[in-house]
Amino acid sequence: MRLVLVGPPGAGKGTQATRLAERLEVPHISTGDLFRANLTEGAETAIGLEAKRYMDAGDLVPDEVTVAMVRERLTHEDAIKGFILDGFPRTLSQAGSLEQLLDERGEVLDAVVEFQVPEDVLVARLLGRGRNDDTEEVIRRRQEVYRDETAPLLEHYREQLVSIDAVGTVEEITDRVADALRTRTR
Ligand code: ADP
Repeated sequence: MRLVLVGPPGAGKGTQATRLAERLEVPHISTGDLFRANLTEGAETAIGLEAKRYMDAGDLVPDEVTVAMVRERLTHEDAIKGFILDGFPRTLSQAGSLEQLLDERGEVLDAVVEFQVPEDVLVARLLGRGRNDDTEEVIRRRQEVYRDETAPLLEHYREQLVSIDAVGTVEEITDRVADALRTRTR
């Protein structure tokens, strides 16, 4: 199963991606987590240090850095049987790069899952999370970037799109996604 998860910051993609990855037995690949892993204290990499200034401002890391990192991750053995991409692609240009990458591998996406959550719920959740880049100003900037840069992907992927109401308990939402995928990919 090859999935892309799309949704605004705070929509719960990461939580659901972890759970879905277990159910579907494919790796969860989060670009945010990959960047943060490159910033582990004492083991910072060039990619991490380059990414940090964008992340701290709520801006997108430049495509060349992001795409190269994803390309490399997809060469790992565990990604042969499938993957759940969380936080990538985030722009139409990244979607183009992903298509090219999958083409080279002779692969296609099975579905693109959209997590729908009202904006006031999102901001409240993120303020409660307390990550470094979760100040109110940066949160608002990330929502703006989502609206301007990422939301256009929904139209781009309309044929593969599975939209999920992502307000509810963690378990309910996992079940909704799993049910929707079963219906769709049957
Ligand atoms: P959130 O879902 O709250 O935005 P993430 O962990 O997905 O958190 O991303 C954190 C930050 O990492 C983003 O604000 C951005 O700076 C950077 N980032 C993650 N994915 C991408 C991507 N595909 N392209 C560019 N930057 C990215």
